[in-house]
Amino acid sequence: MKEVQDKFLRWKGFWYLLTRDREQTLLKHFFHHPLVYGWRALRSYVLRRPYIKDENRYLYNVSSFQDITSLLARKDSYLILGISYCQKPLDCPCGRFNTNCIHEDKNEICKNCFIKGAYDKFPKDRGEFIVLTTVHYIANKILNIMYSNPNKKCVFAMCACPLSLEMFSDWGNVIAMPGIGLSLCGPVCSSMRAFKLAEVGVKPLKTELKSSSEIALDQILEILK
Ligand code: SF4
Ligand code: SF4
Repeated sequence: MKEVQDKFLRWKGFWYLLTRDREQTLLKHFFHHPLVYGWRALRSYVLRRPYIKDENRYLYNVSSFQDITSLLARKDSYLILGISYCQKPLDCPCGRFNTNCIHEDKNEICKNCFIKGAYDKFPKDRGEFIVLTTVHYIANKILNIMYSNPNKKCVFAMCACPLSLEMFSDWGNVIAMPGIGLSLCGPVCSSMRAFKLAEVGVKPLKTELKSSSEIALDQILEILK
């Protein structure tokens, strides 16, 4: 995977976030705390690598996977778990490029779907389970959840391809939220062109979590029980 070999990838991600923010929702969030967000962004973008890589897991604002599990063991923790739409089966009854998921017990496609498995294990009172589409949707959703839960210790876990995890790796530092990126494999987007097509729903193949990421997700869900 060529991901991290493009040293301008994070700046391309920054430019993409800025210029495609059509409803200016991210800009509005930014102007809630311009100095804080501005300073954090500056500090993050000058770093050579704004996260820690541990196997296929990307760690943001923590120094080890153990830190993530310790945070989630706290009763006031709140997990924002994001699953990418590209993980949906090709014949998903909800369609693919949307945030819907019916996770129906009787539906033959759902029964064999990884997303239903994760949804069933997810303790609904300990966080939010979301299917992700575009990067602007993800960013807004995380900020809204964070602002709606001021008394909780929010932690994010996002399933995404190495390209997106690298490209938007500064985002975790800007919001100063601990989190983990769980890496996808299979026919993932590996170029800006593929990424931009996926952002408008052109993603004809299905991705899946790397086995080490799947194990990490299982451990995370186990702790939340
Ligand atoms: S569980 Fe899987 S197949 Fe069923 S609606 Fe959700 S994503 Fe689609
Ligand atoms: S950029 Fe492509 S491979 Fe990566 S998470 Fe989005 S749809 Fe999936």
